[in-house]
Amino acid sequence: MTRTTPRSTTATRNKNLRPRRATGNGRAFALPHPVIQDVTVSYRSLSLLAALALATPALSRGQNVNLGETLAGWGYGKDAAAAADTGRWTRSQFTVEAEKNRRHLSLGGVRLYIGYPIVEDNSRLYIARRDLDKTVIPVLAPRATPAPPRLKTIVLDAGHGGKDPGKQNFSLGLNEKVVALDVVQRLRFILESRGYRVFVTRNRDSFIELNDRSAFANRQKADLFISVHFNAGPANVTGVETYCLTPAGQHSTNDAGSAGDTSEEFGNRNDPWNVLLGYYVQKTLVDKLDADDRGVRRARFAVLRDIACPGVLIECGFMSNPGEAAKIGTPIYREKLAQGIADAVGLYHNRVTRLVAKPAAKPTAKK
Ligand SMILES: [Zn+2]
Repeated sequence: MTRTTPRSTTATRNKNLRPRRATGNGRAFALPHPVIQDVTVSYRSLSLLAALALATPALSRGQNVNLGETLAGWGYGKDAAAAADTGRWTRSQFTVEAEKNRRHLSLGGVRLYIGYPIVEDNSRLYIARRDLDKTVIPVLAPRATPAPPRLKTIVLDAGHGGKDPGKQNFSLGLNEKVVALDVVQRLRFILESRGYRVFVTRNRDSFIELNDRSAFANRQKADLFISVHFNAGPANVTGVETYCLTPAGQHSTNDAGSAGDTSEEFGNRNDPWNVLLGYYVQKTLVDKLDADDRGVRRARFAVLRDIACPGVLIECGFMSNPGEAAKIGTPIYREKLAQGIADAVGLYHNRVTRLVAKPAAKPTAKK
């Protein structure tokens, strides 16, 4: 059911699409050594040294989990030929890769950013328990709890509009608000033809406040929310990024170092489904468009913070790269984008449906 955000929001807060900057009060340093995870005496000095060694201060990462052991428990076999500091595990042609000190890992060939760097101890790689719970398990071994959401009503959100053109490519005459709307209209057509009930936050060149977009999705009782955007950056950068809401207590992917917000948001109730959806969107787009994989990233974007359903924000490509912008300017490429997103929705839907369909575990005798 629709609910408003449980804590007060200000108008300015929702006007910022980019994550807010805040001081990192109450921040602790990483505790990267799995053996000393329960040591509380001299915690500060120990973890400070360790954090300096890693040069990656982060929030307290909590318990570390042996990644290889966890994956072995799920039937993944270790690739002995993997390079030093790197782990590679495979099950039924699905590969998991992780590398020491990296704040991301690869699941099924897709990069997913995590909250804390992978750490190494005695030639074993460890992942923060929180990252296992918030990023790895929802993709590799999604659980039926909390209950998987149904999927019938989808709200599509074309970024920007009206007085806000979004990113622009002047030499090609491209406006983000125009191409995002075009992709959304194509996507709407495909999803409707596949039996979904689809609403759009805007169907023309109109300006809509960010908080009105999520409020609209909640009013329509959306089961899924997809916001379509295009990116800009250095001219040589290309590729697709899919953003999911940052889990509570973690820094967003694009926050420099340890700065930034770590708050809990209303949308965090759908953490597992957000990242499962993000995984399928990123994988499908990268494969279908043959685009650079810039990863499933985390941000507290206004349109993701307050939605009551699973959702993602897709940065479909860089308008600042001449080659990628030229592609974005063609209807064929935008149709491919829409097809890719629609296919990802289908894959997500199938996966969630299988979870729902799974018979309840038989009651077992008391041990
Ligand atoms: Zn945008």
